[in-house]
Amino acid sequence: MLPRSAEVVVIGAGVTGASIAYYLGRRGLRNVVLLEQDALGSGATSKAAGGGVYGSSSPRRSTSGSPR
Ligand SMILES: Cc1cc2nc3c(=O)[nH]c(=O)nc-3n(C[C@H](O)[C@H](O)[C@H](O)COP(=O)(O)OP(=O)(O)OC[C@H]3O[C@@H](n4cnc5c(N)ncnc54)[C@H](O)[C@@H]3O)c2cc1C
Repeated sequence: MLPRSAEVVVIGAGVTGASIAYYLGRRGLRNVVLLEQDALGSGATSKAAGGGVYGSSSPRRSTSGSPR
């Protein structure tokens, strides 16, 4: 059942929305509602292959572009 009110409503429980809700809770907010139209993490989050090397055969480059 949904609460009648919330301090923050986060729409979408992928990695972005779930992270926002988590960190708001860590910062002390106690009335955060996370809404998801399907199952948790069922959007693009469930498709991610977990990162990878791009554009270079060098093992020193990662997807973040920072050296390892
Ligand atoms: C095939 C594929 C492979 C990928 N591989 C990688 C990878 O290897 N490495 C990497 O870093 N990234 C990868 N990505 C990208 C990564 O998955 C996305 O950038 C990331 O998961 C997006 O997260 P998100 O929370 O923003 O969106 P999503 O995970 O899509 O979450 C959005 C959620 O919002 C919900 N929603 C939408 N509208 C509403 C509404 N009106 N009401 C309620 N809920 C709603 C959806 O149901 C969904 O669950 C890949 C993406 C794809 C598609």
